[in-house]
Order: sequence, then structure tokens, then C-alpha cells
Amino acid sequence: MNIILLGPPGAGKGTQARRLVEERDMVQLSTGDMLRAARKSGTEMGNKVAAIMDAGALVTDEIVIGLIEEQLTNTRTTGGFIFDGFPRTLAQADALGDLLAQVGQRLDVVIEMAVDDDALVQRISGRFTCGDCGEVYHDDTKPLKSPDVCDKCGASNFVRRADDNEELLRVRLLEYYKKTSPLIGYYYAKGLLRTIDGLGSMDGVAGAIREVLASTDGAGSIAS
Ligand code: AMP
Repeated sequence: MNIILLGPPGAGKGTQARRLVEERDMVQLSTGDMLRAARKSGTEMGNKVAAIMDAGALVTDEIVIGLIEEQLTNTRTTGGFIFDGFPRTLAQADALGDLLAQVGQRLDVVIEMAVDDDALVQRISGRFTCGDCGEVYHDDTKPLKSPDVCDKCGASNFVRRADDNEELLRVRLLEYYKKTSPLIGYYYAKGLLRTIDGLGSMDGVAGAIREVLASTDGAGSIAS
């Protein structure tokens, strides 16, 4: 099953993707994570995208399509791929269709995680992750059980994303409405769109995603 989690920044795509990885043996392909990793290791591409990411803008289609192409050709998965934060433009969506076709696969479903804009601001300010295992926390809605210790892996290495602040969120949100939200109509027209309420509890949203997947025919994961 190959799926896209579509939604504005802070909708909970990464959190739900990680659950699917654990529960269904899927592979999460997050272009945001790939770009942050490239920045951290100081590659030429990482240095090139740093200023764009810091400004809350989108990096070029060419770069992110290249990253996805590399992953699709080099990664084996039995559970399928979860595209998280990709595609973000119509050009990326077209390219994804072509790339999947090249490896004998197709997209099974696009899950739009609908969230109220005001809730996004609240969600994004306060978000942090474990730098070791990637578990996502929130100061108010999902605090650590013991101070400074990751509930999941016990590490004490936490990361707050520099772009997770209200001012930058508004810029990222504008990019989403201008460039990414047209994908809702694009995938609706292709008969692939399913919309869920992304505002519930993490378990509630996970349940809604599970229902969508259960009612989706997973033929896309079978090479044809
Ligand atoms: P994310 O973690 O998905 O919120 O991505 C963080 C930042 O990486 C975004 O604000 C963009 O600057 C960049 N980025 C991630 N994915 C894409 C994409 N598919 N297209 C363009 N820019 C992206």
C-alpha cells in the first residue's frame, strides 16, 4: 500500500507516519527529514536549501523529486511507502506518479488530514522530538512522563525545530495554501482522496487512518 499523508504543517503527518511504520511495516519517506539530515551533515545540497527552509519557503521541485527518486529506487518495502510532506506542488505530484510507475507501483490512497488553522498554531508551538528515536512530544498535549527522559528510548537529547514558531508557521501555511492545497482537487479528480478529521487525539486520528486503509484496495503495492 503506497499512501500520501497530505495536510498543512502541524497536522500530525509525521506522528501518524511513524505509527504506520511500526504497525504496518511501512517505510516513511519524509522530504523534510531528508532535507534536515542533508543540512546537518553539511552536504552541498544541504547548504543550498538551508536559507530557503529557514525562511519557511519550499525548496525546488528538482531537489525533492531527486531525493524521492533515490529512495524509491533503493528502498525495499513489504508494507509500502508513506509519503510525508511530499508532494507539495502539482509538479511534484506528477513526478511521483511517474516515478511510481517506473518501479511498477502506484498510489493507493491520499489521506487529507484536515485541521483548523488556529489549532495548528497551538500544536506547532510546543512541539519537540527525541533526537535519538524521533518520538514526537508536545509541551501541553503530550509532555514527557519523566522530565528530560524520552518515554520511548530513555535518551535525553531533545530537538525543537527552528521553524516551529508562530511567525514562520504563518509563512509555511501560506506556502501550503498557495502551492500544496491544489493537490486536494488533483487527487480528488483522480479518485484517490480521502479526508479525515486531523484534530482528534493521536489515537483517534490513527483509528481514522486505519479505517481508510482497511477500505482501500492495496493493489498498488503489487508490482505490475
Ligand atoms: P516539513 O518537515 O515537511 O515541514 O518540511 C520542512 C521544510 O523543508 C519545508 O518548510 C520546506 O522548506 C522543505 N520541504 C520539505 N518537503 C518539501 C517538498 N516536498 N517540497 C519543497 N520543500 C520541502
